[in-house]
Amino acid sequence: MLSYYVVLRSVLRLKPWLRKCLARCRHCGIFFLTDARNAGRQDLGCPFGCSQSYRKSQSTRRSVAYYQEPEGKMKKRAINARRRKTPRGPAWVSPASGWMRPILEYVCVMVGLIEGRKVRLWEVVGMLERSVRQHRMARMRRIDQSVAWLNEQPP
Ligand SMILES: [Zn+2]
Repeated sequence: MLSYYVVLRSVLRLKPWLRKCLARCRHCGIFFLTDARNAGRQDLGCPFGCSQSYRKSQSTRRSVAYYQEPEGKMKKRAINARRRKTPRGPAWVSPASGWMRPILEYVCVMVGLIEGRKVRLWEVVGMLERSVRQHRMARMRRIDQSVAWLNEQPP
């Protein structure tokens, strides 16, 4: 979760106007980006399970009811057959792999929503890589300065 905040902070640093889209989950207290229209609302659930688990429980209830009807049963069988046939997609090879992937996808959707355009995953990756690089450079500069200072005035 720490890395999520690193990503979020980087995004906010690069796009300070997104700050007004920052919201806090009423269930778990996590910060997340939301549509500007939701800004200031106190009753939002985060996209990491809280609002989802609520929505999922709703949709599960709905689909359970639906699949108990004959038409639904047939459809379900078709879906299951298709699911078995569909091969798994190719493995994702880039910095956007593994646990980072859902975070990046989320950031991608949020930035797209807020900027009102389609944002590609690689744009977000590039954005964050740039930000990390700048951050690292700034830190290196600070370290260099302290080393220079120590050299000038030995303790
Ligand atoms: Zn939450």
